[in-house]
Amino acid sequence: HVSLVLFTSDLRLHDHPPLRAALASADAVVPLFVRDRAVEAAGFATPNRTAFLADCLADLDAGLRERGGRLVVRSGDVAEEVCRVAAEADAREVHLADGYGRYAARREERLRAALEAEGRRLVVHDAVTVAVPPGEVTPAASDHFAVFTPYHRKWERVPLRPAVGAPRRVRVPDAVGGEDLSGRGAGADASPGLPAGGERAARARLTAYWRGGLAAYGDTHDDLAADATSRFSAHLHFGTLSPVELVHRARRHGGPGAEAFVRQLAWRDFHRQVLAARPAAARADYRTKHDRWRTGRAAAADVDAWREGRTGYPVVDAAMRQLRHEGWMHNRARLLTASFLAKTLYVDWRVGAAHFLRWLVDGDLANNQLNWQWVAGTGTDSRPNRVLNPVTQGKKYDPDGAYVRRWVPELSGLAGPAAHEPWKLPARDRAALGYPDRIVDLAEGLDRFRRARGKQP
Ligand code: FAD
Repeated sequence: HVSLVLFTSDLRLHDHPPLRAALASADAVVPLFVRDRAVEAAGFATPNRTAFLADCLADLDAGLRERGGRLVVRSGDVAEEVCRVAAEADAREVHLADGYGRYAARREERLRAALEAEGRRLVVHDAVTVAVPPGEVTPAASDHFAVFTPYHRKWERVPLRPAVGAPRRVRVPDAVGGEDLSGRGAGADASPGLPAGGERAARARLTAYWRGGLAAYGDTHDDLAADATSRFSAHLHFGTLSPVELVHRARRHGGPGAEAFVRQLAWRDFHRQVLAARPAAARADYRTKHDRWRTGRAAAADVDAWREGRTGYPVVDAAMRQLRHEGWMHNRARLLTASFLAKTLYVDWRVGAAHFLRWLVDGDLANNQLNWQWVAGTGTDSRPNRVLNPVTQGKKYDPDGAYVRRWVPELSGLAGPAAHEPWKLPARDRAALGYPDRIVDLAEGLDRFRRARGKQP
């Protein structure tokens, strides 16, 4: 008989339990991807993620063709398309990877109902898009952990399923047709420095990082100019890398760098278990409600300057320009730019989170919204009133100023840490830079923040 595998955020052939299970029990499989109209309508199909997705689909199709198969791509309502293709292929089973959050839960529910009405079965596989599925570890009195450290302690002890290899052969029934994949490349609105998507690019990056970066990760991951993190985030978002496989491989590698890296993957699972238990946290304040955010014209002008990288604070501007150029930003830079918006400018974190989602190629509801809440002091952070000073942060994590000079050409002539404080130059030299003045005084920003928070009930 025939089985169908619905690919979603798991666009790979290595370590893919749904495909493995389908191939083990059926004579032929239909590997299907549906361009989901609901995802597009919700604004998630941004130019950067659409371009990266096109690479992922083309590469998945190429990988399947090498194995005698091909990828079937359709567009429309996901439940309707799956039922249609299942009927065309007369598939008895549909295999699907786990997904978390309101949208994925609803998708699964609708698929199950629609398929069962036609006498077909939906099989959902856990630990495909995460290492440890939400709900697998819980504290005594709740359905999820709100604090990372105890979560991490338990997370580390969960035995992971073994990683599975890529299949050798995939037979796809001839009768099922799909859309032509050629001609879908990066649109004009995508970031010029966008990385390539697809499993092959992901695995090449994995090999290179294991050879050259992982061992030092613990020491270098906060160094902005070194750019020494894995850059796996978009691959994890689209599932061209498997979190289970990464944890196994990092543990086999061993050492403090690999250990620190695995801890970051635990953060990824942590935010997913929060969102799975509290889907509303994608928009609503998770723990502490704040509603005195600045609005109005002056705030809007500040937000524009922040978005465009002209706040007058060099490290903030460097980071915001990197985001637009590459569709990616270093974690330390995400922390300090988010703190600048939510605490120094005192603008609602949702405004910043939306801008990040617009540009990030790894833009991801669980990681983005919950990290934003963490920074804004509405989420799971244990120090909600900490404010990151952009000048101190810049000097600490970009001590030589190289990150600033890379992204802010106006400051490329300033040597060493002077790049972090252009306002210290003599007035004439300062004016000649053509670099904006600071939009906010840090002491005033801090004062405003404390007053607003102090008045909270
Ligand atoms: P590495 O440092 O190499 O880490 C390896 C992997 O661990 C990452 O690929 C990621 O999957 C995971 N990871 C690392 N840090 C975190 C973290 N703090 N929370 C959750 N997972 C983490 N990450 C996203 O994937 N999508 C987002 O939309 C996103 N938005 C963010 C917004 C803000 C305000 C902040 C502070 C962080 C955000 N992050 C997001 C988390 C983190 O910044 C990125 O995952 C990381 O910078 C990606 O680079 P990397 O792959 O080189 O990470």
